[in-house]
Amino acid sequence: AKREGRSIIKVFQPVMLYSRQLRSQMATELRDAIRSDELVLHYQPVVELATNRILGVEVLVRWQHPVRGLIPPDTFIPLAEEIGVIHDLDRWVMSTSLRELARWRRELKLDDDFQLRVNLSAVELKQLDLVDYVRALLRELEVPACSLVVEITETAIVTRGEVEMYSLLSLQQLGVGIEIDDFGTGYSSISYLRELPVSMVKVDRSLLSELNTRPGQLEFVAAILQLIRAAGLEAVFEGIETQEQADQLRALGCNSGQGFFFCHPMAADETAALLAGTRYL
Ligand code: C2E
Ligand code: CA
Ligand code: CA
Ligand code: CA
Repeated sequence: AKREGRSIIKVFQPVMLYSRQLRSQMATELRDAIRSDELVLHYQPVVELATNRILGVEVLVRWQHPVRGLIPPDTFIPLAEEIGVIHDLDRWVMSTSLRELARWRRELKLDDDFQLRVNLSAVELKQLDLVDYVRALLRELEVPACSLVVEITETAIVTRGEVEMYSLLSLQQLGVGIEIDDFGTGYSSISYLRELPVSMVKVDRSLLSELNTRPGQLEFVAAILQLIRAAGLEAVFEGIETQEQADQLRALGCNSGQGFFFCHPMAADETAALLAGTRYL
């Protein structure tokens, strides 16, 4: 068992996926999971490092399986991509979390600058109707486009297909924030940072994990921060687990970050309770 938020959860063993029979069974179950309301959303605050003010939350999906317990996304997102369910899943996450945000905005008086950050898979960028879908949802829920950020992994974004570029440009034009996720793990031609219509870069947590153990790692992270700034983009750090890491990033002048040190991902009601307070962690 592992602690996450305030709930003890059972962790599904990814190794079980190696059984072909189980994989096909889970594929069937995953297709139904969206309709039977088995997916749940957790939210993790992103904070301004200088003040610990909550700037927004990242939406993280989990699968509340009736038999297997709470399954983490690293296990079923790849399966969802493989069996073509990822499109429905991403749209469900987008619409459900935006509805939740709309409610929080009404009930908790959140400002327009409070940002909901939604992960989008690579295939979603290939959908010609993505921008219309997002625009319609924002209009229906009366959420301004600037309150939404989509997080797209580095590997998904560098392919730069025509439809992908169209999606990115149109989302940007709409006013939605676009962030490169897991920066530093995928294929990286540095120059793409200046060529793509993105506004933020989230540095992968693997770069932080060695901050206090590997010689030269702080300088390395500082250089990456400079690189992101030189490209005119905002840097976000994920996986901040200790006070020391938070202090070091603050000293480097890094604006925002998230991680277990500040807050674990939490269920919607816990998140609402937190946001009803002072909004400082
Ligand atoms: P990600 O987008 O890089 O999400 C950050 C992951 O780091 C989350 O894992 C989060 O719980 C975890 N994390 C946060 N703070 C810390 C920390 O201080 N230390 C450590 N070690 N980990 C931390 P999670 O929720 O298991 O999500 C894993 C991945 O699943 C995400 O990585 C994302 O790629 C994918 N994912 C999650 N939700 C969605 C979704 O709605 N749609 C799509 N397409 N992918 C999703
Ligand atoms: Ca993310
Ligand atoms: Ca990430
Ligand atoms: Ca990741």
